[in-house]
Amino acid sequence: MSNNIWVFVQQDEGKLADVSLQLISKATDLAKDYNSKTGSSVVVEAVLLGEKVKDLASTVIQYGAEKVFCVEDARLKFYTPVPYAKVMVDIIKKEEPQIILYGATTTGRDLGPRVASSLKVGLTADCTDLQIGDYESKGETYENILYQIRPAFGGNIVATIVAPEKKPQMATVREGVMKLNDPDSSRKGEIVEIASIVDDMDCLTEIIERVQQEKSVNLTASPIIVAGGMGVGTKEGFDIIADFAKTIGADVAASRAAVDAGFIHKDHQVGQTGVTVRPKLYIACGISGAIQHRAGMDESAKIIAVNNDPDAPIFQIAHYGIVGEISDVIPKLKKAFTAKA
Ligand SMILES: Cc1cc2nc3c(=O)[nH]c(=O)nc-3n(C[C@H](O)[C@H](O)[C@H](O)COP(=O)(O)OP(=O)(O)OC[C@H]3O[C@@H](n4cnc5c(N)ncnc54)[C@H](O)[C@@H]3O)c2cc1C
Repeated sequence: MSNNIWVFVQQDEGKLADVSLQLISKATDLAKDYNSKTGSSVVVEAVLLGEKVKDLASTVIQYGAEKVFCVEDARLKFYTPVPYAKVMVDIIKKEEPQIILYGATTTGRDLGPRVASSLKVGLTADCTDLQIGDYESKGETYENILYQIRPAFGGNIVATIVAPEKKPQMATVREGVMKLNDPDSSRKGEIVEIASIVDDMDCLTEIIERVQQEKSVNLTASPIIVAGGMGVGTKEGFDIIADFAKTIGADVAASRAAVDAGFIHKDHQVGQTGVTVRPKLYIACGISGAIQHRAGMDESAKIIAVNNDPDAPIFQIAHYGIVGEISDVIPKLKKAFTAKA
């Protein structure tokens, strides 16, 4: 049993998924914590499947993996469930890692449960935090297991879920939740090529055409975000938000309530069921600060809240708060920013 911590590294047409590299960073922290608590020398390893993916392995190593298992096969070029799950299960059985992390992408959300059901182990979806800790149940103590932490019951509680009896412990994590460490180009690691065990009978699904739906905005990469909520009032009200955002070089985001009201497209939704963002500056306009919204933005470096209710919960996490009407405050902010520029 290797006991190492693994990340399934997702690539699409030779581009590594951001979430996979974020998970390598998180896995590195988990390995450090595990080793300091146990005196072991557990390392981070990655699995990379695809047609020609070996060249991507060095980037994965730069982010903290000690070893990258590469399986190259033309039939793995695009994700299809059966071949991917077969290859993953085979390597896992041979190497026996203790933890495997997947991005909560369409691919990870499909692959993780398939691997879990094949191996008869647990999987926690959409974790917002991962830690190493102990767990006691029925007089049994399980030491240094994976705490899989995620909102539950509509976000009203934060649940810590454990699966102590079986390994690997597995979790999916959404993009943007974990912080990305800086890459270290001097890092050296091992690239292990594994022969593919895929055969044609595993590939009964044929991809006839792939249509990539472009998102109208990629908020996870935005350094400055201006977000609007129900307090913006109308779809037209979002024009004021968009105009202000443009003036200061920001992207526009929204609460779910604003999205549900049809003020703006869902691609802009921040929160538990939207995207998770960590901009340098997040300006929340007419957003109450419900826990489900905060889950997607409370790691922002600086938060400014504009709200006409001085008791709005958003002010509890805002670094700067402005109590006032959006129609009054936003034009003044715009003027102030323009004057400064
Ligand atoms: C399972 C689940 C998942 C969810 N996922 C998400 C999610 O991903 N993202 C998300 O955002 N929510 C999510 N929600 C919904 C969340 O609980 C809140 O309902 C939502 O965030 C509220 O949006 P809001 O703050 O825009 O609206 P409200 O709660 O209605 O708040 C509007 C705010 O605007 C202020 N205001 C009103 N008029 C003005 C004005 N003229 N000027 C200034 N301020 C004004 C008010 O004082 C108030 O604070 C989820 C809920 C559930 C149950």
